Amino acid sequence: MFAVAIFGLVAATSSLGQQTPATARPWTLTDAQVREIVGRVRAGRDLTPRSWPNGARVAVGLSFDVDNETSTLRDSGTSPALLSQGEYGSRAGLPRVLALLRTHGIAASFFVPAVSAMLHQASVKAIMEPGHHEIGLHGWIHERNSQLEGPTERDLLTRAAKALEMATGKRPVGMRTPSWDYSPSTIQIATELGLLYDSSLMADDRPYEVVAAGQPTGIVELPVEWILDDFPYFWMDRASTVRPTMTPDEVFSIWKAEFDGAYEERGLFILTMHPHVIGHRARIAMLDRLVTYMKSRPGVWFATHEQIARHVKGGLR
Ligand SMILES: [Zn+2]
Repeated sequence: MFAVAIFGLVAATSSLGQQTPATARPWTLTDAQVREIVGRVRAGRDLTPRSWPNGARVAVGLSFDVDNETSTLRDSGTSPALLSQGEYGSRAGLPRVLALLRTHGIAASFFVPAVSAMLHQASVKAIMEPGHHEIGLHGWIHERNSQLEGPTERDLLTRAAKALEMATGKRPVGMRTPSWDYSPSTIQIATELGLLYDSSLMADDRPYEVVAAGQPTGIVELPVEWILDDFPYFWMDRASTVRPTMTPDEVFSIWKAEFDGAYEERGLFILTMHPHVIGHRARIAMLDRLVTYMKSRPGVWFATHEQIARHVKGGLR
């Protein structure tokens, strides 16, 4: 255990080239060093628009991370049983998600690792078929990007963008990093790829511009949060004590209250889900109930992340 911990520390330190020896002893950091670390990626100006399209009170961005088997593969997992848990996402979960969106006539964003797109080409076609959903970047194989050297992360994300463009006919304009991890290189890579937006950071409920090392990047952040994600409420790890403790009704009550708050603030409601998690029967029924509730309120704009990002970016020009 001790050796593993030491190895982990050494690996983490060597893989993050910008770390100084002082970060291993954080109590020795100078004020300037602390400011440099937190300033690498920061929230800039609030991009909440003066109004949403057609006078809507709130923008709702439903997103689905189509991880499927990649969350097992990225940790070198090969167990057919664990892989089948991911396969459920394409075989059972995604058709239910798409049927729900079709029934309600709303558009959503799907963030797809390149390996998942390769394994499930029919899923990519099914997502694109209605013509109003968006597919965005979600890494190559759901890699833990904060453990990678910058050039490796750049190569994987660049290849993933090309793979999605080949699969969909459209260059992705936004990204959600796998597991919302960020390395010191991630925002620079996003800038190099010319991305319109990111949806992986958590500094606000409101859309904002990402600032990197004090410089505005022009990249729109559509912020996320673990309380607005299906994974922590529903996922279990059979090898540990991690067990889902929430019923769909309890999760509904949290998400409804978050939506009600966004509605009152005339703000933004971003929800992150996964077809292999939310796609189970009791949960998709809960999502249907939530969407039905949101639609019962006047002035709710359901949109893709791309549409929301373009609107908030244009509003301040
Ligand atoms: Zn994911």
